[in-house]
Amino acid sequence: MSDAPIQDPELLDKVTNLAKRRGFIFQSAEIYGGFRSTYDYGPLGVNMLRNVKNAWWQVMVQQRMDVVGIDAAILGPPAVWAASGHLATFTDPLVDCRKCKERWREDKINGVCPNCGSTEFTEARAFNLMFKTQAGPVEGEGATAYLRPETAQGMFTNFANVLATSRKKPPFGIAQVGKSFRNEITPGNFVFRTREFEQMELEFFVPPAEADTWYRYWIDLRYNWYLNLGIAKDFLRLHEHAKEDLSHYSRGTTDVEFLYPWGWDELEGIANRGDYDLTQHAQASGVSLDYFDQAENERYTPYVIEPAAGATRAMMAFLLSAYHEDEVEGETRVVLRLDWRLAPYQVAVLPLSKKPELEGVSQKVLEVLAPYFTCDYDVTQSIGKRYRRQDEIGTPFCITVDFDTLEDGAVTVRDRDTTEQTRVKIEDLLGDIRARTGQQ
Ligand code: ATP
Repeated sequence: MSDAPIQDPELLDKVTNLAKRRGFIFQSAEIYGGFRSTYDYGPLGVNMLRNVKNAWWQVMVQQRMDVVGIDAAILGPPAVWAASGHLATFTDPLVDCRKCKERWREDKINGVCPNCGSTEFTEARAFNLMFKTQAGPVEGEGATAYLRPETAQGMFTNFANVLATSRKKPPFGIAQVGKSFRNEITPGNFVFRTREFEQMELEFFVPPAEADTWYRYWIDLRYNWYLNLGIAKDFLRLHEHAKEDLSHYSRGTTDVEFLYPWGWDELEGIANRGDYDLTQHAQASGVSLDYFDQAENERYTPYVIEPAAGATRAMMAFLLSAYHEDEVEGETRVVLRLDWRLAPYQVAVLPLSKKPELEGVSQKVLEVLAPYFTCDYDVTQSIGKRYRRQDEIGTPFCITVDFDTLEDGAVTVRDRDTTEQTRVKIEDLLGDIRARTGQQ
């Protein structure tokens, strides 16, 4: 990693602490001592996570006429997971350290126990990562259900439904954003790997002859999505899997990798899955999942190109890459240089004092901006401290209402990154913020 940029060794701790202290991400069930690598998203985190998912949906669904969305069930019957191959092969190799008894994923530890340094392990066992539960009040085989370990299968099992109702034809895609569950053996690194997480997946169905072109297309588009939302080029790379490392269904897989504080690791995977999924489900269900191309008078099983991203993992990468410390007026300030589309609050309205006249004008400012931008409102502490608090959570614009406002009907707009302050008339404010965010 000789060409890798130098990172603050405490970055992960700093971001984890900031996330907790300011209400992005809390440990789940914290008042009971927390619960096994699960996390809750607080008032700022829920805004930011929603922004990440919206930014994905906008580019992947809203702005494209060749993709439609679905929202499928999380609970599913064993038949789906037998056909998809998850019951048989969605496993990690599990080993126990003979000395300290800790349990590890064999492929992640290079033969040395990270806890005690021992090299003595039990034989590896295949450990299925799916959470098993039961649907209904009766126990037994007929009631078995699984929590989905990926959102993708909902797109395959609904392929015929979507084809029949949406009037789309290949090349076209079905997209979904939602929760997935994996009983990970070694979760960790904050929300990088958790047992409950959110995915953003597209299954793009194409004529087999076009598969390779679309595979390249989606790799390029997905890489650029992260760049466009502010991750620096030095912190992103593509990693194409060698043929011998591919999963059994894959004809090509490329990961978008991010330079995390512990090194390069996966952010998203883009795979050419061939006709594996539709063929499996057609065989197992007895329902044809072919496409009949009337123009060509030809029947075929589409190939699938799958860009599969994690929403919670992407949010963590955006937080890590946005974290900066710089100097303003002789003091160190923490600033999250988040793209305005991802920031939990895009605007903060700050009346200089609690005087009712100033609060009244501030309410008017909020009425103008809140329908279009997520707004925070803060009246306590000195204005300098309030700017710092907003910098630390990544708010791109602070609007100060002061006593001059009562005379001239103008407010001060402060830019997070340059700290530059500009006087703007209230009637021009919406246009001003829109222009600053490139919307005019
Ligand atoms: P890994 O090899 O790291 O376990 P994977 O290659 O099995 O992951 P995929 O099945 O390709 O992951 O899932 C697609 C995306 O979903 C990943 O790139 C990641 O962003 C996200 N993801 C997968 N598992 C988790 C998890 N346990 N926690 C958070 N995000 C996850």
